[in-house]
Amino acid sequence: MFVDKAIISVAAGNGGNGAVSFHREKYVANGGPDGGNGGRGGNIVLIADDNISTLMDFRYKRKYVAENGADGSGKTRNGKDGQDLVIRVPKGTIVRDKQSNAIIKDLSDNEPFIVAKGGRGGMGNKFFATPTRQAPRFAKRGLSGQKREIVLELKLLADVCLIGFPNVGKSTFLSAVSKAHPKIANYHFTTLYPNLGVVYVDEGRSFVLADVPGLIEGASEGAGLGHDFLRHIERCRLFIHIVDVSGFEGRDPIEDFESINSELLKYNPDLAERPQLVVANKCDILTDPQLLTSFREYVVAKGYQLFEISAAAHKGTQEVVMAAAQLLQSLPPIRVFEADYVEEANIPETCDDLKIEVIDGIYFIEGPWIERLLETVNFEDTESRMYFDRVLRNSGLFNRLEDMGICEGNTVDIYGLEFEYRK
Ligand code: GDP
Ligand code: MG
Repeated sequence: MFVDKAIISVAAGNGGNGAVSFHREKYVANGGPDGGNGGRGGNIVLIADDNISTLMDFRYKRKYVAENGADGSGKTRNGKDGQDLVIRVPKGTIVRDKQSNAIIKDLSDNEPFIVAKGGRGGMGNKFFATPTRQAPRFAKRGLSGQKREIVLELKLLADVCLIGFPNVGKSTFLSAVSKAHPKIANYHFTTLYPNLGVVYVDEGRSFVLADVPGLIEGASEGAGLGHDFLRHIERCRLFIHIVDVSGFEGRDPIEDFESINSELLKYNPDLAERPQLVVANKCDILTDPQLLTSFREYVVAKGYQLFEISAAAHKGTQEVVMAAAQLLQSLPPIRVFEADYVEEANIPETCDDLKIEVIDGIYFIEGPWIERLLETVNFEDTESRMYFDRVLRNSGLFNRLEDMGICEGNTVDIYGLEFEYRK
């Protein structure tokens, strides 16, 4: 079974907690703090794998959880980081955020992609020691790992796609020009999942050709199998449009050609603009030569060149391959989708829901939104830092701290991020 869409939930590991511990040794009184930090939670990582061709695995396993970071302990032992969980998907998988349907990532290359980030580990009490605070009796807990629901959607990566009604000879064409072995039979819908084949043109030149299940009339509205598979032709650079001109099944080539094109247009106007090579197949069994003649006149009048072939007899197929290879040289590369997902930190208007605690003169601030905000800020980037500062100010946090009696120079701690308070 070919599965090309799946919804899964992923949860990165939580960070381990920091430890509170003091150095102990015989005959040594009052050892210093030596609580280690918690380890980072494992990430959920997606990798495109050339050897996987469907999203089938995700039908049965839908929850993916990465390892938590270990807690820190005494003697300044830091907790171990949680192991990343690597999920392999077919190349060409598009990852969307389930809620907004926005694209998070198009996995068209082999770069690993972190789709859920592990939580940072909490600092142990050793971290909080300063000359004036030599024995801190607290440590921080780890941050929770990112959890999200994502949609995986496979859009095949092929340079060229075969289009045409069922039974016109698409699979036969693919097997004639490549080493792929698609199922071929004289009934409609033998192709239930897409087939890919590499077509070797000549020394060092090749392209990927895809045979997707037959497009039929009404495909763009979901009739037959067409609709599910239309998305697989979205990325390709060129179509080879195959038409049965034999009249053997009582088909009218001009009508067929037009209805496939209008399906493309209905599904996505972009597709109707994509270049096509028009191929008249089954020329070896013409029942009415006039069909071919009229079709030729028709497509030539529209500005196409017509290739007249017999895929079954391998006649004329090479000419189509050469023309495709030639055209591909001047066509843009396979489409890669841009991510359009924006992380929203869900920042509330006020800071009323934040918990502020003063321990040893440090103002510890906690709360879900500020934790999320922290995750989205890059502290190496000035603009990002200014944004962070602005959000804190606008939330009224600093006013609240003032009311609590904070003075300039006091330390503020937000989940291990420490800074000196300034007005
Ligand atoms: P698809 O549904 O478009 O993939 O069509 P297939 O490749 O499965 O072919 C459908 C039927 O048409 C099969 O019985 C093929 O053997 C036959 N066929 C394909 N190409 C030709 C051809 O050039 N000449 C003849 N006579 N039969 C063909
Ligand atoms: Mg087929």
